[in-house]
Amino acid sequence: MAITTINPATGETLHSFEVLTAQQLEQKLQLAASTFQTYRHTTVADRAPLMNRAAEILENEKQEFGRLMTLEMGKPLKAALSEAEKCALVCRYYAENAEQHLADLTVETNATQSYVRFQPLGPVLAVMPWNFPFWQVFRFAAPALMAGNVGLLKHASNVPQCALAIEEIFRRAGFPEGTFQTLLIGSDKVESILKDPRVVAATLTGSEPAGSSVASIAGKHIKKTVMELGGSDPFIVMASANLKEAVTTAVKARTINNGQSCIAAKRFIVAAEIYDDFEKGFVDEMKALRVGDPFETETDIGPLATPQIVKDLDEQVKKAVAEGARILTGGKRINRPGNFYEPTVLVNIDPSAPVSCEEIFGPVAMLFRAKNIDEAIRLANATPFGLGSAAWTNDAGEQERFINELEAGSVFINSMVASDPRLPFGGVKHSGYGRELAEFGIREFVNIKTVWIGDSGTAMKDTE
Ligand code: NAP
Repeated sequence: MAITTINPATGETLHSFEVLTAQQLEQKLQLAASTFQTYRHTTVADRAPLMNRAAEILENEKQEFGRLMTLEMGKPLKAALSEAEKCALVCRYYAENAEQHLADLTVETNATQSYVRFQPLGPVLAVMPWNFPFWQVFRFAAPALMAGNVGLLKHASNVPQCALAIEEIFRRAGFPEGTFQTLLIGSDKVESILKDPRVVAATLTGSEPAGSSVASIAGKHIKKTVMELGGSDPFIVMASANLKEAVTTAVKARTINNGQSCIAAKRFIVAAEIYDDFEKGFVDEMKALRVGDPFETETDIGPLATPQIVKDLDEQVKKAVAEGARILTGGKRINRPGNFYEPTVLVNIDPSAPVSCEEIFGPVAMLFRAKNIDEAIRLANATPFGLGSAAWTNDAGEQERFINELEAGSVFINSMVASDPRLPFGGVKHSGYGRELAEFGIREFVNIKTVWIGDSGTAMKDTE
């Protein structure tokens, strides 16, 4: 795949980049390895002002970073500006909390002293997607760099200018040369990097096939990975919910980021008693969304990121219809230049049809009617994915059942799923493993080293 900026709103090719030569790639890997040897000896307190400076750059120049995101992948500009601000937030969160998250952890044993120390691992490869082209990178990079690792970014091939801008932010923030480098390479080069002994671990945010490939290559070389993969999140609405609020949030949760979010609500499972009212409200609000130029402030939904995504989405809708689904609104691409698709609502989906539990990456919602909470939970869990889940109910007993029984990395009650630097983020099942954010995220790429100090002369009694 060429590394190119193509405006998704017009189809116009704006900028093409040369991929790194083998020699340039070698130089960058060598720089990462040598930088780590010095950077690892800096303290968390040394790193914190640099991370705060990165936050300042993000805030001060959010207009320019937002423009780049919108230009390369089509999200509405107002969402791109919020994304830049959220990146600043995660930088500040780790600048402030890394010290505490990584402080030695004393454990009482029969040693004179025993504790756990968290130490950096080395250069970590981050393979990242285009959908949140800044946020996905920063939520990896802020904790990884604060922990003393160095980062190598292989970003998606359609967001090269975002990738270069991020490298530049860390450089200007004062991180030593080589602490964070962008590699302009295609995915065909990832295997050789994973095999390289200088690269010690990897994280991938992206699709299941990409995750499976990276995880298996890394596994073969015994390297730690974190996988943040796809989702088909359920959004359940029970009879006791505030219906109006649930409908409005449901539409937002489906169409956020032009419908291209891993944690977008994709399957709406609604209690039979309120189903008809929910369906009417949902369809009305989907019809009212303004699709258009992502640089316009009134735009709710911009273009999808690539022509291939529109093609895949349209095929999924056609497949659903062939399997018995009915379209209540939308259902086709919009006849204008760029990758635009109508906000779409599908009903009458056969829960056993494959499309019912696939990831749909675009503004297409599937509605299901559930006769009771057992059926709602069964439908919600009937997917290979397990990223986020949302359940709307004011019944404490029902809330408890959803919290316990939904197979997902998160459960949001009376809210939509969203990431927050203070809370761990990740999935179960085919949505991946490992966690980002909070204390859990920063401890993924560290050596959790056990330290045992005895008195010389009182040897440990149990040897294992
Ligand atoms: P993708 O096609 O898997 O691409 C993601 C990244 O992986 C890109 O940098 C891509 O490079 C690279 N890649 C693709 N195939 C690869 C392979 N075989 N080996 C190594 N690298 C490979 O996914 P996407 O279309 O960009 O993103 C959408 C997917 O990401 C959705 O499934 C979404 O749910 C998921 N996602 C998950 C999370 C989460 O936190 N769980 C967050 C956001 C997105 P090229 O661009 O060069 O192909």
